[in-house]
Amino acid sequence: MKVYNTLSGQKEEFLPQGDEVKMYVCGVTPYDDCHIGHAMSYIIFDVIQRYLQFKGYKVKYVQNITDIEDKLIDRANKLGISVSQLAQKFTERYFEDMDALNIGRADIYPRATEEIPKIIEVIQGLIDKGYAYPAQGSVYFRVNSVPDYGKLSHRSLESMITVGTTEMGKEKENPMDFALWKAAKPNEPYWESPWGRGRPGWHIECSAMSLKYLGDTLDIHGGGRDLVFPHHENEIAQSESFTGKKPFARYWLHNGMVQFGEEKMSKSLGNLVTIKEVLGRYSSDAIRIFILSSHYRNPLTYSEEALEAAEKGAKRLRGAAYDEPGADAAKVEMDVKAYHARFTEAMDDDFNTPQALAVLFDLARDINRLRDEGYNVISGQQLLRELTAILGLTLKMPEKPPLDAGPFIELLSGIREKLMEAKQMPKMPPLDAESLIQLLMSIRYELRQAKQFQLADEIRSKLGELGIALEDTPKGAVWKRQR
Ligand SMILES: [Zn+2]
Repeated sequence: MKVYNTLSGQKEEFLPQGDEVKMYVCGVTPYDDCHIGHAMSYIIFDVIQRYLQFKGYKVKYVQNITDIEDKLIDRANKLGISVSQLAQKFTERYFEDMDALNIGRADIYPRATEEIPKIIEVIQGLIDKGYAYPAQGSVYFRVNSVPDYGKLSHRSLESMITVGTTEMGKEKENPMDFALWKAAKPNEPYWESPWGRGRPGWHIECSAMSLKYLGDTLDIHGGGRDLVFPHHENEIAQSESFTGKKPFARYWLHNGMVQFGEEKMSKSLGNLVTIKEVLGRYSSDAIRIFILSSHYRNPLTYSEEALEAAEKGAKRLRGAAYDEPGADAAKVEMDVKAYHARFTEAMDDDFNTPQALAVLFDLARDINRLRDEGYNVISGQQLLRELTAILGLTLKMPEKPPLDAGPFIELLSGIREKLMEAKQMPKMPPLDAESLIQLLMSIRYELRQAKQFQLADEIRSKLGELGIALEDTPKGAVWKRQR
């Protein structure tokens, strides 16, 4: 089995340290809902975990939760709630999304705020060895102390300086030095430390947690391509300096980014599509097929057409796997060895899921054809179910959830409050879901007339999350249920 290692820039034979593969994947910063980019990354590492298990390995999978960070502090302050309340809410919503996408759980989800003693221990160790220095209540990593800094991103120190990380103060020895510990600012959560009150930097959290739960050397370290520099580069510098052992991770696997048209999908560009929105319109199988149809290292362009095609593909696989076998046991059995071999060959080649999916669609097509020709296709159906499960497909009929008035009432009361602020009381409707949808649509119409597009769009996207698609037609908006 070969995997592409970002560290060497090559496909390498996969040789873990033992029967148990130690895998660490950078987790979420729970300050908002996850988007389709998160779905891509966690689906891919879920498939890698499933495939390694299929190959007979045990996998110990650790994924951290960065529950203290600038973005969390900013958002919590804006919302007037505590950082831990915010983190708790979006951690719960994160697990809802992962479950809905049939993403298996990691073995351990350490939270930064619960790992402060280990983080302090690692920082102190780095100071003792001369790799880090305290300055005005913060602690910085001395990048010049690591001659091979830049080996993962294949950059020289000079080229990084021009990229410029100018986080925090003038107290740094070198502009490239990065914070391991940040001195507390007013109105921020803090912990006591040998350097005064403060909080950990993002990079050191991952080093400390992976050391604590997986030991000095990882087999696989994963994450999105956007984490290579500086985050993973810094993890290497910290961990290898602390343990004195190289490499910190034997294989570095990075997935490509999700794009929206020509653009990057990002919060700042306002083109994020959340997992909840997509799940309101498509089955988890369709979302997985869409994501796995592209190789994990390539960028993936978000496309509703491709998702619709993936939904049809899921239906085809489901039909082939579960339709009545048709022939009685006396008839000739279809031969399935070749499909199994082609599937593992594709997956052994750096998890080539587009190829693996192509094998599954071939198998589905041949099951249908051979059944019509009077073959016994039971073994083909069993194999199809086994192999689709490695890609995390459930092959379940997507359920139409009952229309629940609860979320509409919640949404409505939020909007009602906003309208009451503007002194426009809406008439209270009878409390059934359909009339609430109608009411929301008329409110949305009024909002659009008043050029309150942001609020109008919010209604549309919230309805989308609930599985209600609005379509603007020349005769006004119409709604339909999407699942
Ligand atoms: Zn990390």
